[in-house]
Amino acid sequence: MEIAKWIAWLRSFSNFGFKINQSMTTATIKDVTDHLEALAPPSYQEEYDNSGLLTGNANELVRGVVVTLDCTEGVVEEAIRENCNLIVAHHPIIFRGLKKLTGQTYVERTVINAVKNNIAIYSIHTNLDHVHTGVNRKIAEKIGLKNLKILQPKQDTLMKLVTFIPRENTGDVMSALHKAGAGNIGNYKNCSFQVIGDGTFTATGDAQPHIGQINQQERVEEVRAEVMFPKHLTNAILGALKKSHPYEEVAYYLSSLENKNQEVGAGMVGELEREMEPIEFLGRLKKVMNASSIRHTAPFRNIKRVAICGGAGSFLLKSAISQKADVLVSSDFKYHEFFDADGKIMIADIGHYESEQFTKDLLVEVLKEKFTTFAIIFSKTGTNPLSYF
Ligand SMILES: [Zn+2]
Repeated sequence: MEIAKWIAWLRSFSNFGFKINQSMTTATIKDVTDHLEALAPPSYQEEYDNSGLLTGNANELVRGVVVTLDCTEGVVEEAIRENCNLIVAHHPIIFRGLKKLTGQTYVERTVINAVKNNIAIYSIHTNLDHVHTGVNRKIAEKIGLKNLKILQPKQDTLMKLVTFIPRENTGDVMSALHKAGAGNIGNYKNCSFQVIGDGTFTATGDAQPHIGQINQQERVEEVRAEVMFPKHLTNAILGALKKSHPYEEVAYYLSSLENKNQEVGAGMVGELEREMEPIEFLGRLKKVMNASSIRHTAPFRNIKRVAICGGAGSFLLKSAISQKADVLVSSDFKYHEFFDADGKIMIADIGHYESEQFTKDLLVEVLKEKFTTFAIIFSKTGTNPLSYF
């Protein structure tokens, strides 16, 4: 029996006191991806990236989810075997665009097989790299880093809202704005600036003013309130403002901020519990990250401050040096890039797959927190294309 029919059949018993949890049993692919996007908004991905739903219909019900770092032909086969219709992968299998689907490459074959078998592929890539609860947080946990900060905070992700609220309604409007996600700065929430002043207006025509009469100039004690919020929440914030504000026409200004967002960006930097000699640090790094080998520059000072970046992170070398990190742990360094350490920092290249492998744990944890009525499984298919001899 199809799952939708099965659910309808179960629901037919609800009149006899047999209730099922509708929201849980009817989770769609969109419900799952919305949950992931609340953690890592798609707008935080790099321009070159292709995170999001790559194949499949977002409105279909989820039978089961396979979580993987890479979506390969083997992972699609695994999903078919495990009766799962959604693959959540870190790396997007469709990355540089597809011009044909003839099965000539592993990318084409993977996509064809997924589409044929009605399997949705969802990728959560650089947006998950960029959130402070994402890929790098997991690496930091493994290495045991404290006092974490984003290494290269992103710009152009913040907005400011200024609005004017009748004094007696200020509490309601502000709590609606905060609930929608406005006013979070680092470890502080419900942040705003408020000042009392006089608002003036004359209602005309068919207006139905909350305060005052038609064609009569009004002067009302109002609060000018300012809040910051992440750009991707703009629609939610404006919705909350208009719903909670008593005026027919709500006056507000929106502006983009150039501030760096301390919560979002590439890489992280943090501190070890205690200073370590380089060899001890490398030994521990190799162990906790299951690395077969570490390519590193010459050790020259003890390690306390550690910069990290899952995946290819050589572009963060300057930031890591300016943040006074003793080591940059990342992957995919080219020969000449190692020279750029230049006696200022140690580079430790642990391998791309090795640096991101715990992203699977993170995704499974996040999904299991919310969804309990379908299987969420770690892919057992090995996807690291590299072996070490
Ligand atoms: Zn990667």
